[in-house]
Amino acid sequence: MHEYDFTEPITFLTLTGLMFLTVVFRYSLVAGIFHIVFYVIDPKDFRSRKIHKAERDSKQYRKEIFWSTFTSLLFAIAGALMMVMWQRGYTQVYEEIAAYGWWYLPLSFLIAALIHETYYYWLHRWMHKPKIYRLIHKVHHDSHITSPWTSFSFHPGEGLLQSLIIPVIILFLPMHYWTVVTLLTFMTLTSAINHSNVEVYPKGFHKHWLGRWFIGATHHNLHHTQYRFNFGLYFTFWDKWMKTESEKYARDFERHTSHIEDER
Ligand SMILES: [Zn+2]
Ligand SMILES: [Zn+2]
Repeated sequence: MHEYDFTEPITFLTLTGLMFLTVVFRYSLVAGIFHIVFYVIDPKDFRSRKIHKAERDSKQYRKEIFWSTFTSLLFAIAGALMMVMWQRGYTQVYEEIAAYGWWYLPLSFLIAALIHETYYYWLHRWMHKPKIYRLIHKVHHDSHITSPWTSFSFHPGEGLLQSLIIPVIILFLPMHYWTVVTLLTFMTLTSAINHSNVEVYPKGFHKHWLGRWFIGATHHNLHHTQYRFNFGLYFTFWDKWMKTESEKYARDFERHTSHIEDER
């Protein structure tokens, strides 16, 4: 791989193109699977777990896919820049697992996810300031009822701000390149879960000692309906600490997960 100079224009464009195909493929695969399972197969056990039962405007799907494709391009450019930074030796990304040991793989993943969470939570609160909201965050909130396709539906201004954090993290946090790939895949997967409009987590998850720290569809749906609460990305701790977690969360979670046993 190192025989190519990633800064050479044709190589950089090819790299960006490949990254774009990868990001679009991963988004389409994850959102597509969720869509097929929850909206085509529509298993009976999950029907009562749907948050909004109303049909969505079909135009909204087209808008979400359009904006998500644009975001994928921005993520691809960020990815190609990360490759350039890596080749030039500016990052802490390493190739040999033995360099830090196996135990460091999950630890570095967790540290990176916590940094990402902190960046996103405060960025998200800032994007809800009226002027900024109208400028760059409204596009995402146009999905009043979300779908798996809403995952990357952002205005390019928001997409750009979101794409900056992973390149910054790898400047100072040693991460194996597979850990970076795993984090990016985790980001895609959790975004589809949180926007799927179906609560996938088990009953009691919202008060479980570990589950209570994770965001799911019920939690994030309250952000899309109430605006002023639930700003987190993966975890609930900033919302809990800053008292921005919706009071409706427990009640809604119980409602979305309570019919399963009744139906049997
Ligand atoms: Zn928002
Ligand atoms: Zn959202």
